[in-house]
Parts: sequence; structure tokens; C-alpha cells
Amino acid sequence: MTANGHYDVIIIGSGAGGGTLAHKLAPTGKKILILERGGYVPREKDNWDPRAVNLEGKYQTKEKWHDAAGNELHPHTNYYVGGNTKFFGAALFRLRKEDFGEIKHHGGVSPAWPITYDDLEPYYTEAEELYHVHGNPGEDPTEPRRSAPYPHAAVSHEPRLQQLSDDFERLGLRPFHTPLGVMLDEKLPQLSKCIRCGTCDGFPCLLSAKSDAQVCAVDPALQSPNVSLMTDAYVEKLTTDESGRTVSNLVVRRQGQRQRLSADIVVISCGAINSAALLLRSANDKHPRGLANSSDMVGRHYMGHVNSVLMALSKCPNPTIFQKSLSLNDFYFGANGWNFPMGHISFVGKLDGETLRGGAPAIAPGWTLDLMAKHSLDFWLTSEDLPDPNNRVTIDSENGIVLSYAPNNQEGHKRLIVKLKELMQQQSKCSVHGHNCHEGLFARNLFIGQQIPLAGVAHQVGTARFGKDPRTSVLDTNCKAHDLDNLYVVDGSFFVSSGAVNPALTIMANALRVGEHLSERLK
Ligand SMILES: Cc1cc2nc3c(=O)[nH]c(=O)nc-3n(C[C@H](O)[C@H](O)[C@H](O)COP(=O)(O)OP(=O)(O)OC[C@H]3O[C@@H](n4cnc5c(N)ncnc54)[C@H](O)[C@@H]3O)c2cc1C
Ligand code: SF4
Repeated sequence: MTANGHYDVIIIGSGAGGGTLAHKLAPTGKKILILERGGYVPREKDNWDPRAVNLEGKYQTKEKWHDAAGNELHPHTNYYVGGNTKFFGAALFRLRKEDFGEIKHHGGVSPAWPITYDDLEPYYTEAEELYHVHGNPGEDPTEPRRSAPYPHAAVSHEPRLQQLSDDFERLGLRPFHTPLGVMLDEKLPQLSKCIRCGTCDGFPCLLSAKSDAQVCAVDPALQSPNVSLMTDAYVEKLTTDESGRTVSNLVVRRQGQRQRLSADIVVISCGAINSAALLLRSANDKHPRGLANSSDMVGRHYMGHVNSVLMALSKCPNPTIFQKSLSLNDFYFGANGWNFPMGHISFVGKLDGETLRGGAPAIAPGWTLDLMAKHSLDFWLTSEDLPDPNNRVTIDSENGIVLSYAPNNQEGHKRLIVKLKELMQQQSKCSVHGHNCHEGLFARNLFIGQQIPLAGVAHQVGTARFGKDPRTSVLDTNCKAHDLDNLYVVDGSFFVSSGAVNPALTIMANALRVGEHLSERLK
């Protein structure tokens, strides 16, 4: 093992949390190192090939995890500079103001956060600027107060989605344009970086036009001479000093070699599952249950949303290329006759036959996979799962990841699916087939053969929750570990509840908030 290098700050992980924090801290002039277990996503034609990306899983980790029963899991997660944002659908939502308070659900209580929406609001605004978010304020009926408009106008709908949006409006709903982080200029398409292609959600962007953490945060941060990045640097464990209050060393595995690094401040941002695993792997005499784990909360309260992908088939084809532009939040907090939250409706990227082949979908009678894909509207439904201490990350005797998860709070989600079915039956008549154009709604079981849903890992949050009470939380309100003086966590681990919108913008905004605290501390 070689020993080299002391830094002011080391950030482990370069995704939504870590990358954003590096960008925020770069102007401090402090010596900052980002450690990333992956390399850069290679720029190659396969980036946009559904077969390579979805069928062959070319860019996914080949790591194997296990579930509580010991079955193998093949997690759909990605280890690269920029983390999972390299592959995300770039839907960049703020949580609702109410999500920060306690909310009664059919399946239990979604607990309150130790900070309010107003505390995070300025950082949401900052994050939307950094990540080029396109949206129209005032359209979404559940949208919280904002101190500034979106930095860019919303991404327009293609005709089929505009028609659906009009239908929803006719039914008295308030569909809205999904806030999206793509560098699209619809007024000057000849100069636009983004070409609104059909391979965005789940794919890396070949044109660097998606607002991912590498493009928007890490690359610009590396322009500062005080910031450096070490790729292929897997952090195995953290050690503490005699007192147990300070992280003294990071043990890093790189190209088969181990080396030790150290920093005044260490920030973990490996994604909620890997961050919990790193803390647990770092158990020592002073922290026998794992680092920062005197509360026994590390790894617990894992959440990943209740998600469904639903294909609405019609006799007429759906020629939409970029399908992520439309959302519906009318049922976020409930509906007539149902006073519990139901969730959020939006879209996945346009599905294709190749992608469907990978997921063994329910096949509608008389339809081939290619035909289904050509004729479907592909909905993404998200509902909140509740923090359960038994839904947790642990490590096995070989330090491998074990993810135990029992789905909860599913009734609202089921009702959301029924709502969508009803809405789709009330679409306006098509000029060729009339009302019979709509064939029905089909669940796409994307994840057959896996023990947990893919999306359960994609939206991973909650494994090191923040709070005021060290007995019931891992991190304090600044996301510093209660048990240590120089250890912070800024990925999705800090979430107290999962809300029902995508998590990345909240992770980014929180990283900016913690970055402000750290900038003060580093002065
Ligand atoms: C297909 C897909 C689509 C998605 N779409 C959306 C969307 O539209 N909107 C949205 O809000 N969210 C979306 N998400 C989720 C979003 O990408 C994540 O919420 C977000 O990236 C999480 O940020 P993070 O910082 O917690 O972790 P990540 O972004 O995953 O970053 C963690 C980083 O840590 C590195 N790392 C892990 N362990 C170690 C270690 N031991 N040593 C060194 N480095 C390590 C990883 O390689 C990775 O780069 C999507 C995710 C996927 C997979
Ligand atoms: S060109 Fe635009 S739509 Fe296509 S992957 Fe890049 S950001 Fe997404």
C-alpha cells in the first residue's frame, strides 16, 4: 500500500451529489480531489444503440448483489464519471412543499424532513440554472413557490403528446410540461446542442447535450487548477483516528493496487446503496456497527419509489421521437373519494422493439413487439414508498451488497393506474378509428428475472437519513455524520421520505446547500 496525498476535501463519487458539490467548492481555491470508481463513458455509436444499451446492458455494472433471501441481483446502475446522471431521463423536479412535512398515506406516514422547502428553495433555483432546466412555471397544479422562473422555456410537445395534453385538459386536468435538463434551443435548432432524439432516457448523450453531472458540474470544476479527478479509484474503506471522531484515511483500490489518501474533510457520494455499504465496510473498534452508525440507522429506510411503466396502445401509430415532455400531477395528493397521495404520471423515452425484447413485456393479443412499440404511448408512474427500517442495505461476509426490500404503500399506486386507464378511455375520437382507436393499457414488466425492480435502484434514496436527533438519524441537518467531525454525505442517502417525483434535482440542490456550509467551514 502506498501513502500519498493530503487534500483539503476529498469527494467520493462524481454523480448528482458529488459532481455538483465539486462544482460548488471549486471557487474556494481549496485542494479538492474527486475519487470515482468508474471512468468516462466511452463516446461511441453504441451510446445510442438500444440493443447495446438496453438489451445487452453494455454500460451497466456487472456487479452482483443479493437480496434478503440470498438470490442474485443484477443491479441496473452505472459507475462512470457523472454517475447515474449520464443515463438519466433528465426530468428535473423539485419536491413539493408538502413533501417536506409529514403526510398521511394509505400505507402509513411519510415523515417530516428536518428542513423545509423554503430552506432548499434557493438551491433548487441554483441547481436549475446549473443544469439548464427547461420548464413553464405555473402549469403544474402542485408546483411549490419559486423565487425565479425556469432558466429556459419548456420543451415543446410533439403532435401526439400535444393531442393527449389537450385531451387531459378537456377532462378538467392540468397537464404540464415536464421540467427537463437538455440543452435544447428550439428557436435556433441549427445551433442547438440537443437534437431531441429518441435515445435520451436510459442512454448517455453522444452530443454532451444532456445536463448530466459530468458535463454540467465535473468538467467545469476541473477547469479550476485546485480540483482534480482520479478515475478507476474504488474507495474500499475509511479509517478513523484514535478518537474515532475523525476520518483519517481513505483506502483506495486502483488498478489492483491499494493506496491511502487523506483529507481534512471527506464527503461520501457513492449513491445511496454504495454509500451505506462503504460506511458499513468501514466498521472498526470505535465504530463496531459501521462508521457513523451509533444509531444503527446506516443502510436502513432504503426507498426507491413504487414505479410502473405502462404502454397505452392505439390502432394509430405514435410517431413521437422525444416523449419525455408531458406530465400530470393532478393525483399527486389524492383524488375525489381517495384522500391519500397517489403519485405522479409522466413518460419514459419512446420504447422500441429492441428494448422491449430485453424486458419480456406482456404482449397484447395480435401484436408483435415492434408493432407494440410503434403504437404505444409509454407512461411512467411514480408513487411514494415509505421509509421502513427493515428495507435496508447490509453487507455480506465478503463485503458484497445485500438489498432487502419489501414493497409498501402500493394501494395509491394501484388507484393511479386505474385513473390512467379511465383517462385513456376518454381520449377524443381519432378520425380513422373513432373511440375504438385505443386498445388498452398494458403493464410492461421491464424487470422480469430480477428480484427488485430496476427503478427501485435507479431512484435509490434514504439509507443515511438526516435529522436533528442522533438516535434516529445518521447525518445532521448539514449532512455531516453525527458521530464524526469531518465526514459528510451528499448523495440521495440523506432523504427522509421519497416523495413521488424523480430525485436528482433535490440531490443536486442539497449538494449546493451543503457546499455553501462547507465553503464557510473551509474559510
Ligand atoms: C436509467 C435512469 C434514468 C433516470 N432518470 C431520472 C430522471 O429523469 N430524473 C431524475 O431526477 N432522476 C433520474 N434517475 C436517477 C438519478 O440518476 C439519480 O437519482 C442520481 O444520479 C443519484 O445521484 P447520486 O449522487 O446519489 O448517485 P450517482 O449519480 O449514482 O453517483 C454515484 C457515483 O459514485 C460512484 N461510486 C460508487 N461507489 C464508489 C466507491 N466505493 N468509490 C468510488 N466511487 C464510487 C459511482 O460510480 C457513481 O459515479 C435515473 C436513473 C437511471 C439509472
Ligand atoms: S441529443 Fe438531446 S434528446 Fe438526444 S440524448 Fe442528447 S440531450 Fe437527450
